[in-house]
Amino acid sequence: MLANVVWHKNFRILLDLTRDDLDHPEFPGLWDLIYTADRFYGRRGVPVSERDLQCGGVCRDMGVEAPMHLRMRGGRREAVHERREDEERHSVPMSDEHKAYQERILRAAHEGGFGGDSEVRTRVGRTWIQTDTLVEGADGRRIGWEVQLSTIDERGLRGVRARVGKAAKNGITPAWHTDRAAYAQRNDTHWTRSDRLPAHLIARNGDLRIVSGFRALDFWHCDTSALYPCPHGIRRCGKAHATPTPRDVFFDDMVRQTAAGTIVPIQFRAGSTVHRYWVTSADRDRLDDLDSDDTRLPPERDTAPATGASRNRPTCRPATDPLTVHAPHDLPYVPALPTQSAAPAIESAPPATAQHASRAHQVSDGTIGLPSELIMLQQAAEDAHLKLQHLDDHHDRDLQRRVWREAAEAVQAAVTHYARTKRLNRHEVEARLRQLVRNPTQ
Ligand SMILES: [Zn+2]
Ligand SMILES: [Zn+2]
Repeated sequence: MLANVVWHKNFRILLDLTRDDLDHPEFPGLWDLIYTADRFYGRRGVPVSERDLQCGGVCRDMGVEAPMHLRMRGGRREAVHERREDEERHSVPMSDEHKAYQERILRAAHEGGFGGDSEVRTRVGRTWIQTDTLVEGADGRRIGWEVQLSTIDERGLRGVRARVGKAAKNGITPAWHTDRAAYAQRNDTHWTRSDRLPAHLIARNGDLRIVSGFRALDFWHCDTSALYPCPHGIRRCGKAHATPTPRDVFFDDMVRQTAAGTIVPIQFRAGSTVHRYWVTSADRDRLDDLDSDDTRLPPERDTAPATGASRNRPTCRPATDPLTVHAPHDLPYVPALPTQSAAPAIESAPPATAQHASRAHQVSDGTIGLPSELIMLQQAAEDAHLKLQHLDDHHDRDLQRRVWREAAEAVQAAVTHYARTKRLNRHEVEARLRQLVRNPTQ
């Protein structure tokens, strides 16, 4: 079996030898150029490893630099690995179990009204992403399934993080599935796992369960009747928290719901570890409500855009307790936004250094007595948010989220106006205001 995808080290492009134009219509005559060059190197005795070409297939996917040279056989273009060990990497046949998974994913997707295909190559600039099985979901959502079974060795896991990152950056939500517990415990992507099963069972229509990788979020109120300890301290804080609990889901449902967007990946940091798993979008939304506050409004959801509101996603806040989840802020299909408070764009640039000293002086006594109107607005926003966190019903939360959003926008607009007219630092006014409302004794 010959590799037909070649990486050109110096041009930094992948070449598809099965296509006349090598899949680069923008460079006419590319084949003649590289073939002539390769033959010239050969005649000059330049070792293959010092020439321009490497395997662009599985070798590259696994992070191995495998030198190749070109030849013509019976009118066909061929790329040949220099080393036998690289060649052997290609001859590992796809197991029956793996094929059964590919078929099952496509069948489950199809039954849910979604299309898809196996061994899909997605063009990315001048290179490609190779996806095991790609499901075309709703609203342009693309789920890239990669199946890694115990029938292959650990080499298959080389470069997972790089492949996941590249897929995510190009609009493909990676979904890696395995039947090996050791893989499922890795944190490099959102692994799901099923029990090890023979191909004929995987292929059948019967129950196939995902036994790890999916969590239900348990939302609870931090009062004296709570089952879990408060993640923020010893005493009860009265707020709402979320605790993830493992839950089995059917594999077919996972395929369809990820395509529909009703099951989504989240990630959060606990200590130095990033945890990754799948949850329902309803749980994800509710987690967003929990973790946002009035300077970090949650993303708009099927409501009219609120003018003047920040459309930034909430910024990431590290969790200190492994039991508690913080919101997923860098989901693969959501472009990461820089950490930023929600100051309106109209706010003026920071003052020049010369003015700064006198202004800082003003601030130190200027914000002590904030107008009661500001305090009332801030209090209203806090109350609305607290109420939102305590609502269980999805529809109720949609309504309350709107109430809270309006309250939050009102206080932000008022803070901006006040800081402007009093020539104060807006950020400091805001911080002082929150402190006054949240800890009235200070
Ligand atoms: Zn290769
Ligand atoms: Zn608490």
